[in-house]
Amino acid sequence: MTQTYTIAVLAGDGIGPEITVQALRVLDLIEQKRDVKFNCIDAPFGASAYFSHGKSFPDVTKELCDSADAILKGPIGLSHEESEKIPVEERPERGALLPMRRRLNTYANFRPISLPAGMAHFSPLKKEVVGDGIDIMLIRELIGGLYFGGKESGKTDEGVRFVKETLEYDENQIRQILVVAFNESMKRKKVLHNIHKSNVLISSVLWNEVLEEVAKDYPEVTVIHMLVDAAATHLCLNPTQFDVMVMENMFGDILSDQGGGILGSLGLMPSACMGPDKAYYEPSHGSAPDIAGKNLANPYSMIGSVALMLDMSFGMESEAKTVWQAMQSVFESGFSTSDLSKGGEGIQLLSTTEFANKVMVALEALL
Ligand code: NAD
Repeated sequence: MTQTYTIAVLAGDGIGPEITVQALRVLDLIEQKRDVKFNCIDAPFGASAYFSHGKSFPDVTKELCDSADAILKGPIGLSHEESEKIPVEERPERGALLPMRRRLNTYANFRPISLPAGMAHFSPLKKEVVGDGIDIMLIRELIGGLYFGGKESGKTDEGVRFVKETLEYDENQIRQILVVAFNESMKRKKVLHNIHKSNVLISSVLWNEVLEEVAKDYPEVTVIHMLVDAAATHLCLNPTQFDVMVMENMFGDILSDQGGGILGSLGLMPSACMGPDKAYYEPSHGSAPDIAGKNLANPYSMIGSVALMLDMSFGMESEAKTVWQAMQSVFESGFSTSDLSKGGEGIQLLSTTEFANKVMVALEALL
């Protein structure tokens, strides 16, 4: 019998719809070539949902996400100026993204920072630093830490405005993300970089204590401790030393964007957000209002998120590999999108649609 998967498609804001439409073409093609059916259902999410439904995470979307086999999410958000038109509590991150992560319990965020040798010329780093390419799996805790702790703001008795935001974890939250990271290390090179700030933050002290306990179950994994500020430098100077990295929520938000920087663009950054029962897949980047609607966005991050979904939610590992191969073959044969290079010197620039067209041709031949 044909296997059918229901996918909630939340195209989002800015470049979201234009890169989502290209990613869905990949699913269409796989349907034609394999005995599988993807029942893709659109739902409003983010700023566009606020303007059409009065809420950035409407009930109809919550219900669809609850029943879907997986969720494919485009980036959300507006420019700083446009955001001011939405009440603070309904702004996309606060009103939609963080509530979705909490609701679905997607505590483990996999952010591959990957640049195969044939695409190494896109990195702004020197050739000798990039070597044969970069292949890091950054694992970010996604539903705790500074972004989910208590928040307070007000005025002191003296009338001075203040804010208080807390970085909160209990040992169970820390343990569950570390187990994910150790398991991932076991599948890869068995080297785990633990990124923390225990010289200042007591949250990192507890994190490291729990790590010592979890590590006992993984004697084959070598753990390397690194302070988060030093990790930022090492990512630029010697990225090939890393294999799996694990860290607190905000540390991961910031370092993964730096990961996009060392590859050459955030447009190369897909991600998977995994919970015990649900998973959603999204580019690591935002809605890129500066290029929205111009057919300039690089859809690699969104198509890559589909590849992660095929592999991690549907067990279609070989199809996922083929999708990566198809995208990389286009970039390796003298083409680029405008985020990755200015063109010239044997490199031809492609629009969003042109890049996706070439990927489809390559995929058709490979599947
Ligand atoms: P951004 O990630 O949207 O853009 C940063 C830079 O990267 C821009 O120059 C942009 O053009 C470029 N870029 C990003 N993705 C690209 C792609 N696929 N192809 C080509 N270039 C790409 O960050 P920002 O401008 O700081 O934020 C814009 C909005 O996105 C804000 O409202 C922010 O809150 C939101 N945001 C949402 C998410 C999410 O949905 N998970 C994540 C980060 C930021």
